[in-house]
Amino acid sequence: MLRSLFLAAAGSSRIGRLVESAPVSRGIVQRFVAGHSADEVLQVSRELADDGLAVSLDHLGEDTRTIEQAVAARDEYLSVVGRLKGAGLTPAVEVSVKLSALGQRMDEKLAYEHARAICAAAAEAGTTVTLDAEDHGSTDATLETLVELRRDFPSTGAALQAHLRRTEGDCRELSTAGSRVRLCKGAYAEPESVAFQSALDVDKSFVRCLNILMSGEGYPMVATHDPRLIAIAEDRARWFDRSTSEYEFQMLYGVRAEEQSRLVGSGHTVRVYLPYGAEWYGYVMRRLADRPANMAFLARAVTSRN
Ligand SMILES: Cc1cc2nc3c(=O)[nH]c(=O)nc-3n(C[C@H](O)[C@H](O)[C@H](O)COP(=O)(O)OP(=O)(O)OC[C@H]3O[C@@H](n4cnc5c(N)ncnc54)[C@H](O)[C@@H]3O)c2cc1C
Repeated sequence: MLRSLFLAAAGSSRIGRLVESAPVSRGIVQRFVAGHSADEVLQVSRELADDGLAVSLDHLGEDTRTIEQAVAARDEYLSVVGRLKGAGLTPAVEVSVKLSALGQRMDEKLAYEHARAICAAAAEAGTTVTLDAEDHGSTDATLETLVELRRDFPSTGAALQAHLRRTEGDCRELSTAGSRVRLCKGAYAEPESVAFQSALDVDKSFVRCLNILMSGEGYPMVATHDPRLIAIAEDRARWFDRSTSEYEFQMLYGVRAEEQSRLVGSGHTVRVYLPYGAEWYGYVMRRLADRPANMAFLARAVTSRN
């Protein structure tokens, strides 16, 4: 119930203004977001890389409504990717991209062209791009774009969401040689017709998808903080005879840092999803919705501020 409320709030600009103006928001944002500028995110990337972690940078922003915003999002990516090599941060640092930030909802071809330019810059810098998964209405378009991008940039990866009923099939399609798939539970509110609704059903789907990816020929990127699913992923890797260089774990910046270190200590690659930029609202609200304790904390802080 609280989760749905917060996911609905993630799309509301009125609630956005209220949360953005609440004094408590600053601390919450700092927990999940590396900063506003490229300088700040490169600095945090350096610190994470020094701790043995890999990184996927994300420039915050989604659902752009004008061509100018979409071009600005592309240019920010081109600029930050252009700085990675000189900073000695590749290949440890890759980038995550939301096609809706690049104009997908206005013009799919435009978003593809923008993503293509970012993939070319990433290849030049010696790193890769992963396409984030957004709401289910965009899944087909995103996976079609992935196929196009992989013709010239075969290491381009994509996120799949275990809560969608279609995802087992998508895992089968994508568990081929050279393919990189990030498996996550799914952070968007989705209707029963397309998505499992209970946590148990989502977890069961996650395990079925994990079995397909771990037994396939691609490179699974297991994006979860859930201790049970992490243990199952390690178990499946042993089962299917994968060494620790043949899959990776991914976690969000600000969540379960000790577990990230533990996994690195046991020889795993752990990639931290590291967002930066001013458009933090939708992203941070989804992080609050991930965990009821976070939500109750924010609700108390916002409602008691006067
Ligand atoms: C690297 C990465 C990339 C992702 N990319 C996408 C994407 O492209 N599209 C998409 O829809 N979703 C994406 N997600 C989000 C994902 O779908 C889930 O919403 C989120 O990861 C929470 O699910 P969980 O698997 O960690 O399990 P949960 O059951 O939600 O969490 C397990 C435990 O982890 C801890 N935890 C989890 N989240 C938080 C939090 N925010 N704050 C504090 N503790 C927390 C808690 O201890 C919790 O009990 C991504 C997640 C990761 C890690």
